[in-house]
Amino acid sequence: MVVVMRPGAAAEEIDGVVRRVEGAGGSAFVSRGVQRTIIGLVGDVVAFQGLNLRAMPGVVEVVRVSKPYKLVSRENHPDASTITVGPRGDVHIGPDTFVLIAGPCAVETAEQTFEAADMAKAAGATMLRGGAYKPRTSPYAFQGLGVKGLEILAEARERTGLPVVTEVVDPKDVAVVAEHADMLQIGTRNMQNFPLLQAVGGVRKPVMLKRGLTATYEEWLMAAEYIAQRGNLDIVLCERGIRTFETATRNTLDVSAVPMVHALSHLPIVVDPSHSAGKRDLVVPLTRAAIAVGADAVMIDVHADPTAALCDGPQALFGEALDELAAACRELPPMVGRKV
Ligand code: PEP
Ligand code: MN
Repeated sequence: MVVVMRPGAAAEEIDGVVRRVEGAGGSAFVSRGVQRTIIGLVGDVVAFQGLNLRAMPGVVEVVRVSKPYKLVSRENHPDASTITVGPRGDVHIGPDTFVLIAGPCAVETAEQTFEAADMAKAAGATMLRGGAYKPRTSPYAFQGLGVKGLEILAEARERTGLPVVTEVVDPKDVAVVAEHADMLQIGTRNMQNFPLLQAVGGVRKPVMLKRGLTATYEEWLMAAEYIAQRGNLDIVLCERGIRTFETATRNTLDVSAVPMVHALSHLPIVVDPSHSAGKRDLVVPLTRAAIAVGADAVMIDVHADPTAALCDGPQALFGEALDELAAACRELPPMVGRKV
């Protein structure tokens, strides 16, 4: 960390900062320029955070040099991580592979889920998605089947062999979701639900952490740090579109997130083109973009009869569009050095 003093800061002000840093067990190196003085701090950054240096007289700025997230940063872990998923550990999300995750937005009935799972598998998916707990904008909208939905997903896994990722929205449901699912999803609206992040940090199943609607990369990685700090480092990040001024799409897919997050963190990153676009016709082009910028996986919504879907029908793939998606996910990843 570097403390920047105001031009012409008094000697007592500079000494005050030095004493406070040394009192916390750190070292302070004072560098006096013609205009201003800066003080370089060496020691425990976490301890320095509690010193309230920004509020001290003569201080204009405190600049971090290292990342505030430690466990998930690339800085401290130069090699990209591969996250292993499923009861047989046969799905690997990381730098060498490309994984297609597909399934219904919501588990509505057993039949609808099994049908969507078969479609996902036929398209080349090696993981099944599906929501049993749905975070809906309206309290009048379908909220999901809860535990019944988890049981259907577990049965779909038995039938297809596809490991399951499903959302958990309440800390009190973490245990039951972890019991049924192979990966726990934290949705965009809960990215900064800190008790929920800590709860999934305590389970021994991988977690998919979706980016908050308006979250910066740093806020997103700090949220991942909450999970890691509780002992669970099996985290996959998911870019699912952010809120912008554009109304033609549901959200704006931030393709920069993929290379940026890869530079900042060792964690893998999944792209969700379905929730980014909100429109079926955009899902295949955005999937191509995601693969081209280096996504480790994509997650897409499928439904056998989207007009009857209880959630997100307009973005669900079926028929020809799903065939086209399958072809893109088969053909493009090898061109960017990934094994399908
Ligand atoms: C979902 O994947 O089902 C979902 C609700 O996504 P998001 O949290 O990105 O809106
Ligand atoms: Mn959805």
